[in-house]
Amino acid sequence: FPASYAAWHGLSPMTDFFRDSDPGRFLVAGSGSHVTDAAGRRYLDARSSMWNLTLGHSCEPVKEAMRQQLDVLPSGTVLRYEHPPAVAAGYAARLAALLPDPLRHVRFGNTGSQMTEQAAMLSRFHRRMTGQPERRYVVAVHNGYHGTGPLATALTGEPILHEWSAPVDAYVRHVTAPTLPEILALVDEIGPDQVTAVLVEPVLGSAIEPVSLPFLTSLISECRARDVHVILDEVTTGAGRTGTMTVTERLPVAPDMVVLGKGLSAGYFPLAALVVARSIFDALADPPLRLGFPNGSTTDGHPIGMAAGLAVLDVLTADGFLAGVRDTGRHLVDLLASGLADEPAAGPVVGEGMMLALGLAYDDGEPWSVREVNRFRLTCRDHGLLTSYAPGFLPLMPPLTLSRDECAELVDRLRAALGAHKV
Ligand code: PMP
Repeated sequence: FPASYAAWHGLSPMTDFFRDSDPGRFLVAGSGSHVTDAAGRRYLDARSSMWNLTLGHSCEPVKEAMRQQLDVLPSGTVLRYEHPPAVAAGYAARLAALLPDPLRHVRFGNTGSQMTEQAAMLSRFHRRMTGQPERRYVVAVHNGYHGTGPLATALTGEPILHEWSAPVDAYVRHVTAPTLPEILALVDEIGPDQVTAVLVEPVLGSAIEPVSLPFLTSLISECRARDVHVILDEVTTGAGRTGTMTVTERLPVAPDMVVLGKGLSAGYFPLAALVVARSIFDALADPPLRLGFPNGSTTDGHPIGMAAGLAVLDVLTADGFLAGVRDTGRHLVDLLASGLADEPAAGPVVGEGMMLALGLAYDDGEPWSVREVNRFRLTCRDHGLLTSYAPGFLPLMPPLTLSRDECAELVDRLRAALGAHKV
């Protein structure tokens, strides 16, 4: 076993699975919503790997599409849109058609991090191409999450990470809460003619807040009035997670750019996408730049990833699939409410679809610290349940394909863990 890997995780206060460096805990197999470790223990994966394994481990159509692509053309670049999944099968067009007009142009990449960075850069670049004065600032939300590159790290409102992304973060500013007055106050303080974009997640990933369609709608309208782009980071919420393909499609006004990732390939391949409004794309008038900006990575639009993405779209758009996700989500919320009613630490459940979070509080009503939630994850693990963490919340992000029986299993395991956990 790679001992250094376990040791690395052993150094982190945030770690869960390998804290005890037990090689028996390595996950070695998965099937449906369950995973098995090297010692043969079975877990219900209520975090869908990294929130991305939306169709579980055994999605045969996705595996089959990847196998076929592997056999006919295992590599190729999308930079010139040259292979069948990108062009003939019309993946980009199908994806864009799921989003409201004028979000019509898609750029593929491998990670959400890459695409949030490209969105922020493209916002500035678009101004250059349309002869506008330069605007440098991007406004984002403290406690948001946008990825791992220097710019994505700067956009992520986590002060401890910022130190290492300086000086890139000189032009990134954060509001402490994703409220319209706070965001507009910051935009106006910086000067709207200096702010190129506002970047938000429809649901704050690390501290689950319910989706607020009125907030997002007003944000887009107010930003548009200031000619500030709105970039919606749907890396977590997109691809069906909240029970609709995207949150964007529920808005009466479209943002300027949308970032998708994670569930786009249901976790079977690294795949992400940036979808931009027609006006932004059209402004990149010079063909070499259009192809080149903002430069591409070798495996952008990898044919196997795109074959997986197409097969995932088939599943997500099949009749009744997303309605089923919304139903299961409501069912799970009800089961959690009734099943955990006697557990003193368990608070309300927020969220929708398969993006839920259980509030956890001490006897005096104070929300659990991140450290406590993290400790509790170990208790959950010991009761056969894998979860994520957030301050005061236990995020529950099971596969969209979770069955009713698995909903009951999830609540049973959670109840047992709550009963056993010593605060
Ligand atoms: N944005 C959001 C909202 C995310 O949740 C994540 C990943 N957790 C990212 C961006 C970064 O995506 P990736 O990990 O694929 O780089």
